[in-house]
Amino acid sequence: MNKMTTTAVVLLTATAIFTGCGKNAASPTPTPSLPSPSTTTAAPSPSPTASATASPTKSASPTPSPTPTANKGDAVQVVASPESITALVNKQFKLPDQYEPNDLVYPEVAFIFKEKIEKRMLRKEAATALEQLFEGAKKDNIELAGVSAYRSHATQKTLFDNYVKRDGEEKARTYSAVPGHSEHETGLAIDVSGSTGKCAAQDCFAGTPEAKWLDTNAATYGFIIRYPKGKQAITGYQYEPWHIRYVGTKVAKEIVSKGITMEEYYNAVPVAK
Ligand SMILES: [Zn+2]
Repeated sequence: MNKMTTTAVVLLTATAIFTGCGKNAASPTPTPSLPSPSTTTAAPSPSPTASATASPTKSASPTPSPTPTANKGDAVQVVASPESITALVNKQFKLPDQYEPNDLVYPEVAFIFKEKIEKRMLRKEAATALEQLFEGAKKDNIELAGVSAYRSHATQKTLFDNYVKRDGEEKARTYSAVPGHSEHETGLAIDVSGSTGKCAAQDCFAGTPEAKWLDTNAATYGFIIRYPKGKQAITGYQYEPWHIRYVGTKVAKEIVSKGITMEEYYNAVPVAK
């Protein structure tokens, strides 16, 4: 009798895992074999993991216990230090509901629009770094423009709801963040294009001189390409060569030199509990 029961439980559990979040098995439970991190698991220090590291990584274990790994998106944890410039915000780590950065400013760089509005803002430190990045690009004859930077929780909600209406929630989750889970809400991330705005935040930005320049140079200014190519299973997002995230030069250089993602830097993926 119990063989059948066990099989059923296992199947149910598996189904629940694979439908957990986004269609591409992106985040929830990928403990088993991350590409490279074993060499890089040296336990970084910065912020968010404190509470996270405690969890004992029990996911893909063979025990047929009822459903502990199957609570879909409930692996979500609230970011402990949302104001940290190295705070990890992704499909598992969300910002506290009321979080709003308190040092937003307008970086003095070109944008593809003229209005002085919310999406032109970044947190002070990131804004200064962005100004330097744009200047550095200019010296290499690369003219960049901002497309979209800070987004309030309310804006992200409107945006996401519209995507869901258009494409359905499952698809929307592969390219847009659930409110509270967007890096744009940190004031530390910005989408960047060439000065004409051509291919702004679109796949055709990949391979442009601007994208190549960013890929090579962003870390010098403390930014990383947050959703690199081939890392969707780890970051939960498609390749976005235009989305850069400020983490400070030290962390940026470490992430880039190791060819890892922010998730791997924090060894956070297995934390999906
Ligand atoms: Zn973005």
